[in-house]
Amino acid sequence: MIYLDSAATTFQKPPSVRTAVLRAMRTMSSPGRGGYASAQAAEETLFRCRSLAAQLFGAAGEEQVVFTASATEGLNIAIRSLVPPRGRVVVSGYEHNAVTRTLHALEAEVAVAASPPFVPEAAVEAFRRALALGADAAVCTHVSNVFGCVLPIEEIAGLCRAAGVPLIVDAAQSAGVLPLDLNALGAAFIAMPGHKGLYGPQGTGLLLCAHEAQPLRCGGTGSESLRQEMPDFLPDRLEAGTHNVPGIAGLAAGLAFVRRITPERIAAHERTLLRRAAEGLRTIPGVTVYAPRDEAQQAGALSFTAAGRTCEDVARALAERGIAVRAGLHCAPFAHRTAGTLEGGGTVRLSVSAFSRAQEIDAFLTHLRAILTR
Ligand code: PMP
Repeated sequence: MIYLDSAATTFQKPPSVRTAVLRAMRTMSSPGRGGYASAQAAEETLFRCRSLAAQLFGAAGEEQVVFTASATEGLNIAIRSLVPPRGRVVVSGYEHNAVTRTLHALEAEVAVAASPPFVPEAAVEAFRRALALGADAAVCTHVSNVFGCVLPIEEIAGLCRAAGVPLIVDAAQSAGVLPLDLNALGAAFIAMPGHKGLYGPQGTGLLLCAHEAQPLRCGGTGSESLRQEMPDFLPDRLEAGTHNVPGIAGLAAGLAFVRRITPERIAAHERTLLRRAAEGLRTIPGVTVYAPRDEAQQAGALSFTAAGRTCEDVARALAERGIAVRAGLHCAPFAHRTAGTLEGGGTVRLSVSAFSRAQEIDAFLTHLRAILTR
């Protein structure tokens, strides 16, 4: 199989991740619940993972790094901590349903700071206008999971700081690829999956917290057990219940891999592949490619459509030839509304990782050309 769906989850993981998961299953029990060796080994693994993440993402301390099951869980915690029922929230034009459905459930007034893909100045201007009317919070995805367009998060964070509006960054597509610094951004929260650009197993995620947070779940934490309120300190406040120790061990190995290769080199590799894909796609008759002139404006994912063919048809034909891509709305109807691809039923998306290879892009292009010119 040629796997071009890393924006959903990275499928090829470093061998060290598999080894770490298996080692955790063999040698670790539950952390914080005892002084014996297997509990201590688990405790040390959790600390190491928090420490690697704090270093990579500019958190002042390990306690600011909270384990979640996914980016979705982190976004739910962050949004529900900041947005009162029917509160006003400014969002980018590219938010995922993990954000917009959560806001819908809170009956929030959602002000969409919409801007065309790959035009960062327009995104800044749209946020400037929307924030001028005041907001309880702002949410901005760093990179669109549909188009791979990079949003100018530093400038948007600056506007939020100036307006005194707490910012939540959805780093689902940027963590491990683009520079991301909690402290420098002055963001309230940054949510990210562990299973995409950090190469951890599915079922892992991180929420970086620089703001008071409300737990989604209540339960045992191994701390302050006599009190019936959840602890008021992090990370315990947000981590009730037994941790996903094998997953976190794998995530720590994934973070170590990213640190070793460096996000800069991973981003450069992925951009080379996306450029190759975009250039090839432009030569296929009837294909519309969503890619910028300046490749620095794109990371990880690329969308296209083919005249006269539904996205699902194209993705199915590619799957029959052993090529894994995604078709449709990619859980992000707001992004398609913003870019004008909603009516056509969305796009076909290919997305790459540190393990993707140029030959795979070439094979994808050859098969696509054959499918569309059949
Ligand atoms: N936000 C964005 C931008 C995403 O791409 C995704 C995953 N498709 C999510 C949130 C949700 O991530 P998870 O699957 O880890 O909950």
